Amino acid sequence: MVKKFDIIAIGGGSGGIATMNRAGEHGAKAAVIEGKLLGGTCVNVGCVPKKIMWHGAQMAEALHYYGPEYGFQAEKVSFDFATLKENRDAYIERSRNSYQGSFQRNHVDFIEGYAKFVDAHTVEVNGEHITADHIVIATGAKPMIPDIPGKELGVVSDDVFAWDELPTSIAILGAGYIAIEMAGVLHSLGVQTKLFYRKDRPLRSFEPYIIQALLEEMDRTGLEHEGHKVPKRLDKLDNGLIQITFEDGSSHTAEQVLWAIGRQPNLNGLNLEVTGVQLTKDGFIAVDDFQETNVPGIYALGDVTGKIELTPVAIKTGRLLSERLFNGKKESKMDFNLVPTVIFSHPAIGAVGLTEPQALEQYGTENIKVYTSAFTSMYTALGSHRQMSKFKLITAGPEEKVVGLHGIGFGVDEMIQGFAVAMKMGATKEDFDSVVAIHPTGSEEFVTMR
Ligand code: FAD
Ligand code: NDP
Repeated sequence: MVKKFDIIAIGGGSGGIATMNRAGEHGAKAAVIEGKLLGGTCVNVGCVPKKIMWHGAQMAEALHYYGPEYGFQAEKVSFDFATLKENRDAYIERSRNSYQGSFQRNHVDFIEGYAKFVDAHTVEVNGEHITADHIVIATGAKPMIPDIPGKELGVVSDDVFAWDELPTSIAILGAGYIAIEMAGVLHSLGVQTKLFYRKDRPLRSFEPYIIQALLEEMDRTGLEHEGHKVPKRLDKLDNGLIQITFEDGSSHTAEQVLWAIGRQPNLNGLNLEVTGVQLTKDGFIAVDDFQETNVPGIYALGDVTGKIELTPVAIKTGRLLSERLFNGKKESKMDFNLVPTVIFSHPAIGAVGLTEPQALEQYGTENIKVYTSAFTSMYTALGSHRQMSKFKLITAGPEEKVVGLHGIGFGVDEMIQGFAVAMKMGATKEDFDSVVAIHPTGSEEFVTMR
């Protein structure tokens, strides 16, 4: 017998769950199919365990650097990674379990198992056939690993979250969010860490002024990093360490090597070929503005489409799709402009909109005006471990519309969301300046820049 639904999601991560819950809310007969762990990447091996470890790393910094400057002397501070892991994983399990409650409220079926297409309207899960008017592919992404000798000696971010103990040393290969976040967390938790990237700097798509500040902070805190390093091979040495040999003939050894060079769509075992769904040149699922693939009734969203791989993007895209399909909102679709983002580095980086190079290209030199601010964060200003905060605003046109907002520093992670609202509403520099500053904070810089 074939089970029939109005809509199903293949993948129970951020996107699939949000899409089905919203469909269920509007009365659709919906189901989430998940082959591994409900919650997907973000909850199980992404945002959540990462953020908890980042908080742990912040505590380590507070205890070692800043606490003593504020007069706190904790005798014999010790760190037990196993406790952090146990509590982190218990929290994740509670989060995962909470999805069942939302499914019950919205009458969403949860089907455990891997789905594979039988034809364009039917999938098979655990030998059972399931059909739906609308099939949403939300299978996420997985780490990329370059095809070089010894590549299997390296681990990926999923493996880091499974560790019961921390290594003494790690080499991180990559230049994006994961490389930077992992490097910062592991370094702060006491792992001897070195980051290698293949170009002149990491996070090249971010504002150079901010990334320069990050690199200076890494230098100040002894987080080693080196550019122009392309890995050629990995070898296990007799002493158990892994040696990375780079294209330039140089080498580096560490107990662990982490691949963090980007992610690719997760299409394994989906049998997508039988549907005729087209892919982009990079192998992601090609969709139009309404998340529709070239095959009627098949949609895709989230990381598997390769468009801004962030949890809130997957969630919002999915909810908007369900609003369109089941709540009569015919034009409901995701707006991929001005998506705010935070890198949980040390200190955090936040960004909305264009970088200065992007604004120059889009508007021309004569049409943009740039404001910057740099200061020592008050939290770190009492002693010798002074940390800089740097902010940049980019405005365009005679009305000075704010088109780019960037910051690095203490508290920046919690600072950006509200400014993104203002920018979405089309705020100008004058609008920013019309707001009374909150003092003493870092965010006041954004409304007082000259
Ligand atoms: P996923 O969450 O990956 O879910 C896809 C699901 O589909 C998986 O559970 C998988 O098991 C399942 N699946 C795959 N194939 C099948 C099949 N055939 N049948 C059934 N199930 C299947 N984003 C942020 O916004 N903030 C952060 O701080 C952040 N930190 C991150 C840290 C790390 C280390 C990583 C790796 C990612 C991070 N992200 C962060 C990105 C975020 O996790 C993703 O953008 C988000 O999870 C994408 O959601 P998704 O629904 O597209 O895919
Ligand atoms: P990213 O896309 O952020 O960065 C990967 C970088 O690695 C590339 O930009 C590239 O930089 C470099 N690279 C690519 N190929 C190679 C190669 N063959 N050898 C060496 N370096 C290479 O990928 P991540 O895996 O870090 O993260 C994936 C996505 O997950 C992110 O884009 C983000 O959307 C999301 N994420 C979000 C987080 C957050 O919101 N805080 C945290 C973690 C992940 P270059 O060209 O400069 O070499």
